[in-house]
Amino acid sequence: MSLFQNLRQALIEKKISAETLAQRCLALARTRNPKLNSFLEFRETEALSDARLADLRIAAGERGPLLGIPMAIKDNILIEGSQASAGSKMLAKYRAQYSATVVDRLRAAGAVIVGKTNMDEFGMGSSNENSAYGAVRNPWNEDCVPGGSSGGSAAAVASGVVPMALGSDTGGSIRQPAALCGLVGLRPTYGRLSRWGLIAFASSLDQIGPIADSSLTVAAMLDASSGFDPRDATSAKKEGTDIFSKLEALSKTLPASEVFSGIKIGFDPSQLGDGVDESVRARFLETLNDWRLGGAEVLETPLPNAKHSLAAYYLIASSEASSNLSRYSGLLQGYRSEKFSREASLQDLVASSRSEGFGPEVQRRILLGTFALSSGYYDAYYKRAAQVRRLILNDYLSALKTVDFFVSPTTPSTAFRLGEKSASPLAMYLSDIFTLPSALAGLPGVSFPMGLGSDGMPLGVQVISAAWSEEKLLNFVRLNEVYRAESSVLPVTNQNNGGLLS
Ligand code: GLN
Repeated sequence: MSLFQNLRQALIEKKISAETLAQRCLALARTRNPKLNSFLEFRETEALSDARLADLRIAAGERGPLLGIPMAIKDNILIEGSQASAGSKMLAKYRAQYSATVVDRLRAAGAVIVGKTNMDEFGMGSSNENSAYGAVRNPWNEDCVPGGSSGGSAAAVASGVVPMALGSDTGGSIRQPAALCGLVGLRPTYGRLSRWGLIAFASSLDQIGPIADSSLTVAAMLDASSGFDPRDATSAKKEGTDIFSKLEALSKTLPASEVFSGIKIGFDPSQLGDGVDESVRARFLETLNDWRLGGAEVLETPLPNAKHSLAAYYLIASSEASSNLSRYSGLLQGYRSEKFSREASLQDLVASSRSEGFGPEVQRRILLGTFALSSGYYDAYYKRAAQVRRLILNDYLSALKTVDFFVSPTTPSTAFRLGEKSASPLAMYLSDIFTLPSALAGLPGVSFPMGLGSDGMPLGVQVISAAWSEEKLLNFVRLNEVYRAESSVLPVTNQNNGGLLS
């Protein structure tokens, strides 16, 4: 059973109160934090009062899956009264005046938010080393990165401090850290979860989503937080999902050879070439074989334009970021340079506030994006990237006509060492190679554990499906968990309760 299931059972059977659980969770988080640096803020008072409320609801007979369950939230998602730095010095002093829609909905479902998690500055990064508040470490090996940009959320879950957290994914920031920390991470279809109250990085790509210890937890979080929100212009007019109870009911009834029968799975062998670690390739091919043995049909479905996704993504994301981040001038919003004086010109004030408030990666993206959007270059760069984006979506649409899922490894390697890629932005960008195409296409994608690399660190497999098919996607992950977990193919994370239930 996952940590989430253990906690839920203990709460329902009243072996522990939500209040005690929140206290233990905060205590554990504080012990782990000096090393992991996964939390930027603890919400002691608010968490305990939310937990007491959950206890009353449980006592009154309510049984919602998230009641009393502790969780963490990435620091670019607003909670009224809490900090929301987005990992940047620019927003060091900012406290949110309102809560994100997803936060309101999760709290209404009874989740207890214990803290805000560290992240790459404004979501820009793949290792969590770009935070103004220091790098996060991977609980599986503290010399390694947890992945990024939702690295604090992933490390909080992988360390057993909480069973679930929210992250955000612009080009892979939920799936990539989930993979490197041995967890399940879902990037929902663009428009599935409201972005109201999410600090913008690249608006046409940003999606909030869950990182958790199992597909059940992810489903419960999605059910609680999804659904139309009139305050977000890109929120889809869709009902919230209702997946958790169906997944919970799924039990082992099929013979091993029929578990995946009727399911068609596509992959593109050309994605497994240079730049992909040998142990990743080997583990991925074994996973394909496991599915074949379980009755699935595995087909080759090329995505010919996916190779352009890195170039297209970094143009589009940087362009949108340069526009979104222009509001932080040190005048109305954001950090103001100490150099401000009567003599300084407005230009000097803005320039020094932005130079001191933004870190090097954010400045690099702003420069790139401003250049790409400048007149005379717009057609050559942004417009062309937008056209490539459409071609990538077309590739998926044609692949998904013949298969249910398109699969690949989530990352080209296991978690790398801190500092290993910081000197080369391009090497860092390449770690997103598998997660970028579906983000550009706006399609849902999940990463879940597919075993360990030769270094003993977790690996993830990524599954992409048609828009709005999260139920089908999570059902597939659940099948894998139910049938394959104890075959030791998958590392089962969070089996120990981290002392929360001792
Ligand atoms: N690593 C990618 C980037 O740096 C994606 C980040 C994200 O999804 N927020 O932009």
